[in-house]
Amino acid sequence: MPTFDTGLISRIQQANDIVDVIGEHLSLKRKGREMLGLCPFHEDHRPSFNVNPTKQIFKCFACGAGGDVIKFIQMRENLTFPQALQRLADRAGIKIEPFRPRTQDARQQTQEEADPNEIARANAWAAKYFAANLAHPEKGKDARKYVTERQLSDESVKNWQIGLAVGTDNDLLTAARQKKIPDKLLLAAGLVVGAGSSLSDKFVNRLMFTIADATGKIIAFGGRTLSGEGAKYINSPTTAIFDKSNSLFGLDHARHQMVSSDTAVVVEGYTDCIMAHQFGVSNVVATLGTSFTAGHARILRRYAKKVVLLFDSDTAGLEAANRALGVALGSHIDIAIASVPQGKDPCDFLLAQGKEPFAKIIENATDVFTFKWVRLNANLGSQPTLAGKKQAVDEYLDAIATAINAGNVSAIERGLIVNNLSRVMSLDAKEIHSELNRRSSRTRTLSSYTGEAGDSHTPLDLGEGLSANAQREILEVLLAHPSLFDDIRDKISPQNFDVPVLERVAQAVFQTLSQKTRASIQTICSAVEDPQLASLITTLEHEGAEKGNFTKRLADALAALEHVEQQKNKTAGSKHDLICDVSKQNPRNMGMI
Ligand SMILES: [Zn+2]
Repeated sequence: MPTFDTGLISRIQQANDIVDVIGEHLSLKRKGREMLGLCPFHEDHRPSFNVNPTKQIFKCFACGAGGDVIKFIQMRENLTFPQALQRLADRAGIKIEPFRPRTQDARQQTQEEADPNEIARANAWAAKYFAANLAHPEKGKDARKYVTERQLSDESVKNWQIGLAVGTDNDLLTAARQKKIPDKLLLAAGLVVGAGSSLSDKFVNRLMFTIADATGKIIAFGGRTLSGEGAKYINSPTTAIFDKSNSLFGLDHARHQMVSSDTAVVVEGYTDCIMAHQFGVSNVVATLGTSFTAGHARILRRYAKKVVLLFDSDTAGLEAANRALGVALGSHIDIAIASVPQGKDPCDFLLAQGKEPFAKIIENATDVFTFKWVRLNANLGSQPTLAGKKQAVDEYLDAIATAINAGNVSAIERGLIVNNLSRVMSLDAKEIHSELNRRSSRTRTLSSYTGEAGDSHTPLDLGEGLSANAQREILEVLLAHPSLFDDIRDKISPQNFDVPVLERVAQAVFQTLSQKTRASIQTICSAVEDPQLASLITTLEHEGAEKGNFTKRLADALAALEHVEQQKNKTAGSKHDLICDVSKQNPRNMGMI
């Protein structure tokens, strides 16, 4: 259930008209009382995507995706419920308290007690402090020499807020205490380490790189050793505002160019990234000592459709490609791979060759499917035998099937993947389909937005049999005709729903309807955080409305449920008082089996 107050959610919904918000993402045409467009969640050829301005919900009648304005943003931008809420609050200029996940972990609790805004403020202060160190005539002398050697311009140093952590181990701590910044906050920000009286600076004798989020808020630091001691690079630890698997260096500098070029380039080092911008290639970001993750893909796909992973020549390999392939399959983003030749890193290459050859490398990046396939063939030797080819095909398909099983790939995306494979491998798409089916049938976790018939990869188990159908029927009626809730509120509760998915829907429906007399489908949608569940809710509502005949269907369904309960209790030999005062009807005549 949401961690947010329902009043706030409803305020955010009201301030973000669904037609306006969706209209920013796709073009809608009026048809009667509704708006129609091409669905962004499946490959739509005739407009199947329906926006209802009165109900403030959307529904795709082809793929089943549906929900309120918050769900649309969640699905469209791959955001969590709180993130989507924040996005829409920002859009409407509504202030909301920062979201804090509930946690049982006491240690985590201490960290989360620190206000994220306070941490960001402490970081901003530290960034200024580090920058002043680097500019200092004495303190910064050696570090500036290194910066000059690396050919980072003065402008880059300033724009990227490059700084210096000096060689004594409580320099920052002392300065912070003079500024009355609490130790606890410095600890929460990861700027100091230790406990009690033995606190010391996290970064000592390092060139400091400032890590900001997309809005320029400083969330962490990376430090490169200047003495050769310790690890070459260290980053801030995970804090309430920083997690390196979900953060990218340079995002604030690169986001505009990523949008206009529809391409994001990802390198591995701070200086590689800064140098690219210094040379005018400004759609470049860097990972922070981790490989490219699904979290990174989620961030970048807000800005660009295509991601080019640019590896140092010596690290580009099958393993990196395998990982990237997994991310590409799970994140609905096009990933291409490129590498810098001649054993250089991108920074060296830029300095030696300049902008044009660098841009060419990015332009000529190979899509990850082809990359993996070509590498695989090369590794298997140049033997063009049928057996050799079979082995390569097997290994490739295994990798894809594993990635499909691990990721969240809908039936439609799977179709796109198969088309890609068919092109790359020059094999018939049908053949690839059946091969993948065979390989992934054991542990299939594929998902699509609803449990509608006709889709062979539907994980939503709506149950079967008399009882499950009755449960579904009750929800359909309540969603389509909420005022009937009063007729059943004393007779049945969510506990009577034993199909888990339907129980979750029932909880949202009962909770919302018991609070408000005029609750809408939009309110019910926002009572669940899971887009798949919201899609199911809009499907049930639609089907419920189509069938009509509400009062009779509700009575029949209740009778059926009661009948099933009685049968159960007969065998169990115990009594129950769940459902009473329901008209006795033959459950077989419900017209829903
Ligand atoms: Zn659709």
